[in-house]
Amino acid sequence: MDIILAEYLGFCYGVKRAIKMARMQSGRDSYIATLGPIIHNPQIVKQLADEGIVSIDSLDDIDHGTIIIRSHGVGPSVYEKAEAKGLNIVDATCPHVKRAQMAAKTLVDEGYSVVIIGERTHPEVKSIFEWSGKNAVAVETSAQAQDIQPAKKLGVVAQTTFSRAKFKQLVDILLDKSNEIKVLCTICNATEQRQAAAEKLASEVELMLVIGGRNSANTTRLAELCAQRCPTHHIETADELDDDWFHNIEKIGVTAGASTPDWLIKEVYKKCKNMNKICKVY
Ligand code: SF4
Repeated sequence: MDIILAEYLGFCYGVKRAIKMARMQSGRDSYIATLGPIIHNPQIVKQLADEGIVSIDSLDDIDHGTIIIRSHGVGPSVYEKAEAKGLNIVDATCPHVKRAQMAAKTLVDEGYSVVIIGERTHPEVKSIFEWSGKNAVAVETSAQAQDIQPAKKLGVVAQTTFSRAKFKQLVDILLDKSNEIKVLCTICNATEQRQAAAEKLASEVELMLVIGGRNSANTTRLAELCAQRCPTHHIETADELDDDWFHNIEKIGVTAGASTPDWLIKEVYKKCKNMNKICKVY
């Protein structure tokens, strides 16, 4: 059985940077917390907790110490509240997310009604939303795009991890909603590279394994794209691998979301290799 890794997989620049920034705080303050899990990967969140960096859901849960803003970013009200509480703010917002936030803010300043193409409930989209003015809406399906009210000036930005193909599809629908429409594609390269590499690999193998948190939007997207091309399993750890998946399979592909650490990928790879040996013995 051949096990092939996608050309681009695992931790992206923004995630690596956020974890590094969080770890640099370890031991520097009496209380250190991330506002929400630092990334959508439960194993890393647990590691950080063991290092004294806990995850809290709200600024109401902290009254002193250091608050770390994760790569998904936050709206202006969060900075204001943290400052008012006298907290030490460590801003690990990914620069690409910051770019999307600032693009939305600029569109508002220029008089556009902002449409964010992305998952409404995703923390990054929520953070961009807060920079997008009172007329902002978020859409992720064709039906939601159809429902947008026509506007004099419409400005469009994207969740950084959104599928480019789907983004184009939704922008096509929005083109009918305004005579003046400004589209800023804020999808980041890391996402596109991982998606393209996963799609290519999924077309060449019989089975795909996609590693990453089930709560990770970009990992789920990778799994969806792969599943359109070959049977695909989305797993969080090597423990979930099932012998039955590999019967009569000669070639498997492995990819991982931008929030999946290397050691989890290595564990899956190693376990697949061992299964390979067992298969050969029998
Ligand atoms: Fe930043 Fe892109 Fe990684 Fe998101 S996927 S954290 S935008 S580098």
